[in-house]
Amino acid sequence: MSQLAGKLGIVFGVANKRSIAWAIAQAWHKAGVKLAFTYQGERLKENVEELAGTFGPDTLLMPCDVTKDEDIARVFAEVGQKFGELHLMLHSVAFAPKEALEGEFVNTSREAFRVAHDVSAYSLIALARGAAPLMTDGGSIIAMTYYGSEKVVPHYNVMGVAKAALEASTRYLAYDLGPKKIRVNCISAGPVNTLAARGIAGFTDMLKHYEAHAPLKRNVLPDELGATGTFLASDGAAAITGQVLYVDCGYQIMGM
Ligand code: NAP
Repeated sequence: MSQLAGKLGIVFGVANKRSIAWAIAQAWHKAGVKLAFTYQGERLKENVEELAGTFGPDTLLMPCDVTKDEDIARVFAEVGQKFGELHLMLHSVAFAPKEALEGEFVNTSREAFRVAHDVSAYSLIALARGAAPLMTDGGSIIAMTYYGSEKVVPHYNVMGVAKAALEASTRYLAYDLGPKKIRVNCISAGPVNTLAARGIAGFTDMLKHYEAHAPLKRNVLPDELGATGTFLASDGAAAITGQVLYVDCGYQIMGM
């Protein structure tokens, strides 16, 4: 039987079947994890309902805009009621206004900076604070990040700065929550063709660039991100916390 069988998890960030969150949710489900899902608004409800429904008709599904403290409080109150405890949490949520991902970084507006950081970085802190009291037997929190946090990737702009904040937050959360046996890590994924990714100008070229320059000469597959999510959730990663794990076919090691 899988080590994760019977564990309880929550997934933030499924928009559709291409979402990285869906790849990790499927891998967790296969490993025997019972999952709850959230969706941002009515627009995505049907999509997520259909996907989550494939895990059984009683799969817990809740609306949650991660910029709203009252939504977060309601979600964890409901998870507490229905599950009693929690072992795993996936943060796979990011947003920046489209114009901030097209032009020059120097033109980033105060509002675009605020929104990008609120949705993509602060939300991890707020969600971890909500989840931690339910992780009474320890837990694993995973957030999705990207290499644009440490190197300049043209057009990634303010999202790179928000990912840097997300990665730093992961380290501070790992320190705070470590004594409670809660681990906090980031998966830094190579480019994957999703809804959010298509919002980045020149994304198709990015896929081609990785294929040409990554040591493995290809792009990462969603299933591979699922497998890493399962590893980080498992006892195999029991001594790993506060880390950024690159799942990018080796692209991050290249200097040229
Ligand atoms: P995705 O399917 O579009 O997922 C992004 C999710 O964030 C969507 O479900 C979106 O919901 C949600 N979201 C945005 N604002 C929100 C809010 N205020 N409250 C709640 N949810 C909100 O794209 P993805 O590529 O799988 O992205 C998942 C994560 O992976 C992100 O953190 C992204 O930066 C990261 N990542 C992606 C890549 C890549 O190449 N795709 C590479 C590395 C890291 P809505 O659709 O309703 O906005």
